[in-house]
Amino acid sequence: MNVELRELVICQNDLEAEIIKGLLQENLIEVYIQKDDCGGMNPQLQITEGIKVLVPSDQYQMAETLIKSYQASSDTGDSREKTWQCVSCGEILEIQFSDCWKCGTPRKSISA
Ligand SMILES: [Zn+2]
Repeated sequence: MNVELRELVICQNDLEAEIIKGLLQENLIEVYIQKDDCGGMNPQLQITEGIKVLVPSDQYQMAETLIKSYQASSDTGDSREKTWQCVSCGEILEIQFSDCWKCGTPRKSISA
């Protein structure tokens, strides 16, 4: 069987590559790691231009989805939901406003 590999992502270091590899293998995706280390004559001096993570092309889409959800969850998480709702008038406000621009109710009046 001839499996065609596709480049999924290029990692900057071994750790990142290992994390991604582990994540994909958990989901039964075959993972191939390819390092450009100029032949590896001096492994301790190797200059890598990145570590390529390759997956079979028929598993590429699933792998890509997993990587995206991994990258999204490794961001600090709630970057999208930085809003609060005014208890007085119900206006949705950006987190940087400390008072409701509509009715002037302070944000801290939201009961915890
Ligand atoms: Zn308000």
